[in-house]
Amino acid sequence: MKQILDQAKACTECELCNEVCPSYWATGEVLFSPMQRLKTAIKLFEGGEVSDREIESLYKCLTCMRCDQVCPEEIKISPVVTKARAELCKRGLGPLVRHNKVIEGILSKGNAVNGDPQKRLEWLPEEFPRNESDTLLYMGCLASYLVKDAATSSYQVLKKLGVDFMIMEDEGCCGSILFTTGRIDLAGEWSQKIVDRFKSLGIRRIIVTCPVCQERFKHSYAEVLGGVDFSVYHMAEVIYDLLKDNPDLLTKVQRTMTYQDPCLLARGEGISEEPRRILQWCGVELKEMPVNRAEATCCGAGGGVRSAYRDLATKIASNLLNTVETESIVSACPFCTFNLNHAAEEGRMMKRSTYFTHIVLESLM
Ligand code: SF4
Ligand code: SF4
Repeated sequence: MKQILDQAKACTECELCNEVCPSYWATGEVLFSPMQRLKTAIKLFEGGEVSDREIESLYKCLTCMRCDQVCPEEIKISPVVTKARAELCKRGLGPLVRHNKVIEGILSKGNAVNGDPQKRLEWLPEEFPRNESDTLLYMGCLASYLVKDAATSSYQVLKKLGVDFMIMEDEGCCGSILFTTGRIDLAGEWSQKIVDRFKSLGIRRIIVTCPVCQERFKHSYAEVLGGVDFSVYHMAEVIYDLLKDNPDLLTKVQRTMTYQDPCLLARGEGISEEPRRILQWCGVELKEMPVNRAEATCCGAGGGVRSAYRDLATKIASNLLNTVETESIVSACPFCTFNLNHAAEEGRMMKRSTYFTHIVLESLM
């Protein structure tokens, strides 16, 4: 705690972080800026009282890590926010009511999107395959329930490319919201439960569709459990490795699309060229957002913001869509795809986002 407090106190109030924060842009209020969030965190860490608005400010952070990149004092602001949320939870001031609803859903239904567990496999284009493998294709809640095309196309692409893998009938949620809202106590228990299941199935390698699941399995679980004995790969890494020596396997589809970099994939994992190469092999003419790759702007869904503050998540997504010239957007995150499409529908914008394996599958047909 002392280390994180010292880091937070190194702020010189230069306000550079404020210039890149999509949550601050969308709200227009200084209280909802990264710099102000640091001040609220310091107050909390030092045992002070915080107001409801200050709590709101901490929970309106997308934990997108964009501010962390620009701070000249090298303050990692987003982890400070996450620690401050954990402190709120310790005091009984967090998570928010809407977050708790999602958490209840995870504990009772095994998913974060209030999906009917009986319908979890509706995306599956064939009978449930009861094969064993040490490689698991883990769909995650968004692809399983809300962006089913991402699940179906990812499954079919791996099959067409001859990958040996299994899926789970009831894979459960990665528990991301437990980490992001500060319920670290529950996050530890949940991670152990998921890891025990992977172990009992002999899983050594996990392929994920969602960068959020990737972040949790690869980093957060390892942190709370002191390490994990499996490796984690995003679909983009897997497809890139399988096709890099033989991209001619893909037939060309004629499309012009803008690639949207998910924060946790591009900024978190440094994966921004692989999905672009894959899409170009598919014949897609790629356009770029004004800010892209590791510096890309968050879609507005992350950090528990979409669960608790849907209007803000929609506004941030609309702001991002307004910077896109093409009608078609392609992403490597089901959550970004979902949030961008919701914002486009709400704002009656002629924009449509697609998960990237849809294009790969089309190219493999
Ligand atoms: S992590 Fe993102 S949303 Fe949160 S303060 Fe930084 S730039 Fe703003
Ligand atoms: S960029 Fe760093 S030093 Fe400048 S206001 Fe933000 S946190 Fe403080």
